[in-house]
Amino acid sequence: MSKSETGGEGFETRAIHSGRDFVGETGAVTPPVWLTSTFEYGNPNGFDYTRSGNPNFRLLDRTVASLEGGEFATCFGSGVSAITAVVSTLKSGDVVVAEENIYGCTFRLFAQVFAKFGVEIRYLDFTEEASLASLSDHQPALVWIESPTNPNLKILDIARVAEAAHAAGAPLLVDNTFASSYLQRPLELGADLSLISLTKYTNGHSDALVGAVATSSEEWQEKMIFAQKALGLQPSPMDCWLTLRGAKTESLRMERHSENALRFATFLEEETDAVTVRYPFLPSHPQFEIAKRQMSGGSGIVTVDFGRSLDDTLRIVESLRYFPKAESLGGVESLCCHPASMTHASVPKETREAVGITDSLVRFSVGIESVEDLIEDVRQALQS
Ligand SMILES: *Cc1c(COP(=O)(O)O)cnc(C)c1O
Repeated sequence: MSKSETGGEGFETRAIHSGRDFVGETGAVTPPVWLTSTFEYGNPNGFDYTRSGNPNFRLLDRTVASLEGGEFATCFGSGVSAITAVVSTLKSGDVVVAEENIYGCTFRLFAQVFAKFGVEIRYLDFTEEASLASLSDHQPALVWIESPTNPNLKILDIARVAEAAHAAGAPLLVDNTFASSYLQRPLELGADLSLISLTKYTNGHSDALVGAVATSSEEWQEKMIFAQKALGLQPSPMDCWLTLRGAKTESLRMERHSENALRFATFLEEETDAVTVRYPFLPSHPQFEIAKRQMSGGSGIVTVDFGRSLDDTLRIVESLRYFPKAESLGGVESLCCHPASMTHASVPKETREAVGITDSLVRFSVGIESVEDLIEDVRQALQS
């Protein structure tokens, strides 16, 4: 269990200083990796077995809680483990109402795993006021959204959704992965749970998998700690260590991701014949005003529909030099993803197209390289 120690300090100070416990005896400025599966009984910090806690988990938990503006956070082996932990608190017959443009693996988990245990999921378009007004008709046990969504970068009004979820008697979970803790803090906007794949922006270097759930509810925190040990969802101490190191530079990286992505998106919109360019901080984005209100930057993801055939789109993607075609996002290096054949391949084609994931859609994760080189790369790929 971890209390945040915000104490009015800035994000950058908390990112660097929150994870400095358990080193008093040695004076080490950087904590070690506690590679141990078990702990001697009766130790002052109450550790017993790494499945139910480890000093590296605790350092990361405290930092994430603080950065998310919550009281507590619990880390898990991946973002998907964090999703599993939250859903494991539900029971057969419970209904989850979710945003229709949800992360592909979340969709697959609900459809192919949790459905077997009687947890039902219903999808709505949360940009529609009518969907919010209808929430209580579903008697949801939980409301689940992402903002920005993957890969369409729809922005949902988190404060408004929280109000509607609470009016329907349900807690609100926001998957904050695409925004990052630096640019958006769902708990401060009224969400009950903020789930983050720390694998992405928090780690920032594409070298470890970790997920977390942040909350200010003691009851939810107890459920998360229980899920971590009872379901075996714990991360590895080494991955926590790498992720905590990444968190120290999150603010600098996010500033550059946002700056690069805005310039990259502006280039695509103004200088190419792309049919649509989606980026939350472009004035052409349908929810630009909400984005500016609840985020301090647009993050690094830019989604574009080149309006070409499937073959042509794949050819463009393959002739890029600085954007390896790879799943994931949020690392210092740029990547690109073709959702229809990669992240959303597990979503049926009709369902995909109904939510705007066409064959010519490409999602760029804009890294922190020199943005001129990234722009030039796309220019040559489009001409080739
Ligand atoms: C990547 C991702 C996840 C899952 O995280 P892993 O660490 O890969 O398990 C969940 N939600 C979103 C929005 C993601 O991008």
